[in-house]
Amino acid sequence: MLEKSTLYVVATPIGNLNDISLRALSTLAKVNLVAAEHIQNSKHLLAMHAIHAKMISLHQHNELAVTDKIIALLAAGESVALVTDAGTPGISDPGAVVVKRVRQQGYAVVPIPGANAAICALSAAGIIAPHFLFYGFLPTKSGMRKRELAGLKSHTYTLIFYEAPHRILDCVTDMIDIFGPQRQLIIARELTKLFETIHTATLQEILVWLRADSKRQKGEFVLLLTGAETPDKSQLTEHAKHTLSCLLAELPLKQAVKLTAEITNENKNSLYHLALERKTTPNPQ
Ligand code: SAM
Repeated sequence: MLEKSTLYVVATPIGNLNDISLRALSTLAKVNLVAAEHIQNSKHLLAMHAIHAKMISLHQHNELAVTDKIIALLAAGESVALVTDAGTPGISDPGAVVVKRVRQQGYAVVPIPGANAAICALSAAGIIAPHFLFYGFLPTKSGMRKRELAGLKSHTYTLIFYEAPHRILDCVTDMIDIFGPQRQLIIARELTKLFETIHTATLQEILVWLRADSKRQKGEFVLLLTGAETPDKSQLTEHAKHTLSCLLAELPLKQAVKLTAEITNENKNSLYHLALERKTTPNPQ
């Protein structure tokens, strides 16, 4: 059942056109209008599923003007779907502006979940770590890119980037400059498509691997860079761990860490990382 005066945010495939949910298809078939990043791309997908919707183009440069049109339709009781060329709208894609304004006007926004390149890559990467940080596209110029990467250097979460084929070599080269040659990278290329490749190696080995065959530099990429090593928590004494737990129960994290370091004379950084872990995973195995 379709609701009136509702904006549906519909995820579409990132390659394999069968990767679309039944709910997405029935929504796209029933809405009064589909706002699409590129009408031709989305028309092809809809035609494959025998859907012939009324469409409007919504991209980075006309998002504000089209948002006004969408709001006018919602005010008249109509429902609208938002799609982009691939994956989930609003994720390194247009969508956030229209969603924000539609919500501000008090209309319902309903997400129809589906494909997303970052999550798709992560699901097949085999990274045993609880946290990740989605960055998206890095700056295109090397100087700016390195500055951004330097800011992420000591981050312990897995870092997820999107990258274009013509920048992949430069990007991995800059990563080596900042993170050193030994950091592990999972390169996920052409996911769900014919030449899908998921390759894990050190940054230096990935650069050699990419250079060895120019076909490996083609297509769409997700890069998953493993996080910085956490300071060794296993070196902490039981007394320090216990003290930290007691103080964490009563005090803000920073204060609990500071006091525990003073009481036990243990490394503040290690205590800080353990405290973060306790806060996010109350009963770590
Ligand atoms: N909204 C999309 C999502 O939910 O993932 C992302 C759109 S963004 C404009 C496009 C970028 O996503 C590509 O440059 C690439 O980095 C990544 N991407 C999209 N499809 C991909 C695929 N099939 N394989 C690998 N990366 C992909």
